[in-house]
Amino acid sequence: MGYYARRLGPAPGDAPTLMVSWTGPTRSLSSMGGSVLPGMISMSFEGEGVLNPDREALDRAHWFIGHEGAHFWLGQAVRYEYARDMWITEGGADLMAVRALKTLNPAYDARAELQTEVDDCVRLTQGRSVVTAADRGEHRAHYACGAVFAMAAEGAQKARTGGDWFDFIKPLLAQPDGVLTREEWLSALTGVSRDPSLRLGVEQLLDQGAADPAAVVARLFQRTGVAFRMDGGRVVLI
Ligand SMILES: [Zn+2]
Repeated sequence: MGYYARRLGPAPGDAPTLMVSWTGPTRSLSSMGGSVLPGMISMSFEGEGVLNPDREALDRAHWFIGHEGAHFWLGQAVRYEYARDMWITEGGADLMAVRALKTLNPAYDARAELQTEVDDCVRLTQGRSVVTAADRGEHRAHYACGAVFAMAAEGAQKARTGGDWFDFIKPLLAQPDGVLTREEWLSALTGVSRDPSLRLGVEQLLDQGAADPAAVVARLFQRTGVAFRMDGGRVVLI
């Protein structure tokens, strides 16, 4: 929370609070769930796997807190306009969490996490759009593609100012009406990149999907300087 506050300014409201409920050491289970309320992250832990967490389980817990905590800014300081725009807050919170974890723990494998986002976004936009994903129960598309778009925005920000994802998103948190619209997000991408073609790629995946989404993601990354190589039609982060 301190890292986020340093990068983005203080969270709105009271001191952020983390409330964890413990369901018990259910055998053969390691489960973490949760949600965010005004000023509070509510988490639920269950299973014997949580009692003696390995590195992977600890990373998962920290990532979870990082994602939910990011919503104090991206989700509460500003919210999305329509549910179909939840890629803005979910993908944005994902990239905030990855960047924060990497800062707090240099051994954290940010590349692996982001590769999962790329792979899931490509898989979930083949012939179908992000804005209709929730209707199919494919909420994951909002997280994965939102993170992919955030990575492209971060690349454009880095090329322009040497900054990162937080530098891109910070001015967008200052919305007088408390709403960060899709148009405002996309206009900011054009503003920082000065490349109006970028939003067309984002909008294609949002509104239509693609026969070959990997090609769309590859073009976004290529034009924003996100490091990757193509491997048999797959976008592989490097
Ligand atoms: Zn979330």
